[in-house]
Amino acid sequence: MKTDLIESVDTTDRHPRTNSQTSIHQIEHVSETSLSGSLAPPPSGTSTRCVHGGESRQKSEGAVTTPIYCASTFTFESTDQLLEFVEGREQREEYARYGNPNERVVEAKLAALEGAEDAILYSSGMAAIVGVLMSRLSAGDEVVFFDQCYHRSREFCGKHLARFGVVTRQVKTGDFAAMEAAITSKTKMLISESPTNPHLTCVDLEQFAAIGKAHEIETLIDATLATPFNLKPINYGVDYVLHSATKYLGGHNDLLAGVICGRRELLDPVRKLRGCLGSVSSPHSLYLLERGLKTFALRMARHNENGLAVARFLENHRRVDRVYYPGLPSHPTHEIARDQMRGFGGLITFTIKDADWRATSRVVDAARIARIAPSLGGVESLIEQPFVMSYFSYSAEERESFGIADNMIRFSCGIEDTEDLIADLDQALAATDS
Ligand code: PLP
Repeated sequence: MKTDLIESVDTTDRHPRTNSQTSIHQIEHVSETSLSGSLAPPPSGTSTRCVHGGESRQKSEGAVTTPIYCASTFTFESTDQLLEFVEGREQREEYARYGNPNERVVEAKLAALEGAEDAILYSSGMAAIVGVLMSRLSAGDEVVFFDQCYHRSREFCGKHLARFGVVTRQVKTGDFAAMEAAITSKTKMLISESPTNPHLTCVDLEQFAAIGKAHEIETLIDATLATPFNLKPINYGVDYVLHSATKYLGGHNDLLAGVICGRRELLDPVRKLRGCLGSVSSPHSLYLLERGLKTFALRMARHNENGLAVARFLENHRRVDRVYYPGLPSHPTHEIARDQMRGFGGLITFTIKDADWRATSRVVDAARIARIAPSLGGVESLIEQPFVMSYFSYSAEERESFGIADNMIRFSCGIEDTEDLIADLDQALAATDS
C-alpha cells in the first residue's frame, strides 16, 4: 500500500534544511483505502502540507475528510489476520491505547510539517513532556535545563522526576558555559524552550545541539511558542521537538494535545511507553486537531503579523515599561530569533510603568476583545496577568527568581484585525490612569 503524503521540501521557508523529509512512519501509516498507483505528490509548501500531509487521497466511503474512528478496539477477521499483524506484516490498529486511525493521520501530518521522521501524539503537552522524559531517564540520571520555562515543566522535572531519583540542574537560559559546567557523566538530556514562556527568550539552537553532540547527550526543545511554521529545531540537530498542540497547532482553544517529533529510532521506545501510560488523545480531539492544522499556516502568518504590530505599538506606549517580543530589536535575543525564525509568533509579554499588581489588573479587566484566560495560540486573543493567573500559589521570592513581575501582562494575539487589537489595548492601558 502507498500513502499520498506530501514529502518534499518547503522552498518558502528560510531555515536550513536536512534532506530527511520522508518518514518510514508516514509510509507505513496508510489508510486501507489509499489509492495505489497514483502519481507521486508534487513538491509542497507549508500550506499544502497542512491541508494534505499525512492523508490518503481516497478515504473511507469517499469522504474528503478523515472520519472520526470512535472505537476502543479494532477487530480481526481471523487468527491468520491477527498473525499478520503480530508478526509485523500488516500495519493497522489493534487497541486504541496503542493507536487510532485519526491519530495516525495527524501524526504523519505533524511529522511532515516538522520535517521529522516520526511524531507521537499525547493527550496534552504536559503528557508529552512526561512521556518522553519517563521513557528516556532512569534513576541516577541527570538533566540540565534552561531555567526560563513553562512552570509545570519545571515542576515536573524538579519535584516529580526527583522522586524517581533523577537529578535536574537548572542553569540560566542561554548560558552555554553554565550548561557545560552542569554536565556530568550522568547527564542524559539537555532541555530548553525556544522562545521561552513567558519571557520569549530564544536559544541558539546550533550551539545547544552542538553541546549535546559533543557530550553524546540527547537534546529536547519545547518549540510550542515558535511552532514548525516559524522554527525547525531538527534542522539544527536537536533530537526531540516538543509542542503543546493545545496552542497554535490546534489553534482554536477547543482541544488539549501534545506532540513529540524526532528520529524514529529514538521515538520507538517513547511510543512503547505511551502504550503503558495510556496518555492518548480522544478521536474527537484528533479530528479537531486535524481540522485546525488545515489552516495552521494561514493562522500563523496572521499571528506573526498581529504579534509584531502589537509589540511595536506597546513599545511606544507611554504606560508600558518593557516589552518582551523576539521580533523587536530591543529583545536581548532578537538576533538569534531573526537568524533562526521565519516569524516571531503572537505572544507578547509586557510590564506596566509604575504600576502595582492591582493597577496592572485594571488593564487586564478593561480589555474588551481579549478574554481573560490562560493559554495562547488560539484564534481568540487572550490576556492574563501571570502573577494572578499561573503564579499566585508561588512565594514572592519564587516569582522573583522566575522573573515574574507583579506588573507583567501576557497577551496572546489571536487572528482578529490588527487595528482592532491595538485600539482595544490602547483604551485598556488608559485604565492605569484612573
Ligand atoms: N510547553 C509550553 C511552552 C507551554 O506553554 C505549555 C502550556 O501552557 C505546555 C508545554 C503544556 O501544554 P498543555 O497545556 O497542552 O499540557
